[in-house]
Amino acid sequence: MKKLKKILILLMILCLILGMWLANRNRLEEYTKTEFIMDTTCSVTFYGEESALAGKAVFDEVKRIDALMNMYNENSEVSLINKAKSGEKIKVSDDTYYVIKTALEICEDSGGAFDITVAPLMELWDFNGDDEKIPTQESIDKALKNVGYKNIVLESGNMIYKLKSETEIDLGAAAKGYAGDKAIEIAKKYKLKGGIIDLGGNILCFGENPNSENGKWTVGIQTPFAPTGTYEKTVEISDKAVVTSGTYQRYFEKSGKIYHHILNPETGYPQMKEYNSVTVVSDSSLKADCLTTAIFVMGENKDIARKYNVEVYFE
Ligand code: AMP
Ligand code: MG
Repeated sequence: MKKLKKILILLMILCLILGMWLANRNRLEEYTKTEFIMDTTCSVTFYGEESALAGKAVFDEVKRIDALMNMYNENSEVSLINKAKSGEKIKVSDDTYYVIKTALEICEDSGGAFDITVAPLMELWDFNGDDEKIPTQESIDKALKNVGYKNIVLESGNMIYKLKSETEIDLGAAAKGYAGDKAIEIAKKYKLKGGIIDLGGNILCFGENPNSENGKWTVGIQTPFAPTGTYEKTVEISDKAVVTSGTYQRYFEKSGKIYHHILNPETGYPQMKEYNSVTVVSDSSLKADCLTTAIFVMGENKDIARKYNVEVYFE
């Protein structure tokens, strides 16, 4: 009888150990990493064996895209175009060519509400520096003469040239989006069950979420001007990008008025609206990034949302 009791206890302990081992085997460890790139906080959350390797590869890729497209980096390809004289042809990488080509299509489809040649205006407003001043009307008028995406010409062989020397490109509304698409492409090469990549509010999800019943990911839409992580609503997605352009992301206050970084390319001033953010859910983070800015300036536009097959939220 005593022997039977001992065997039973032993069996129970064995079952317990087996149960714990099985539970642990199915539980994937969460890997997170955060870095400051592209003038914003970028983070990844991955689940799977090769999370750390994937994390490093993804951040390297985001840095590579930034080095090509940041207009504030004087060695970037965008800076080479910006410094070029009119008619001078610049050969760029496949990445830069593709981003400028896609962005120019959205410039056209938005009737110029989205315009990647706002660089001369952005330099005046200086939302990145600590020189928070409202530019003079004279300087805005002068800059506006050089704004116009039609001054950018693409030719085969990755060649780009300008029709005006003073026109300059700013991919601030597109490069982060493209970096997101490339980051996902890289992450998918590794043994991962799934994950989330957040490039300063451009959020991309892939694979399965091990912490949810249906494997989907829940992404929050930030309440403008509230502490980060305060959500207006949430969307449930898989293999998609959720991108937000908001006044609260970059702005300064002067005499009780807010001046933010989403400009109306026609007036040269921040586009003031009754909403403070536009969020786009799309298969392509590059297109979503351009579209959030375009739709912010345009206001609700069913045609463009339908053409690009995206969901749009205003907050
Ligand atoms: P996003 O955060 O995607 O809305 O991008 C805003 C950034 O895009 C700004 O910081 C500028 O660099 C640039 N930008 C501002 N206004 C426009 C516009 N109307 N069209 C294209 N790019 C813009
Ligand atoms: Mg954008």
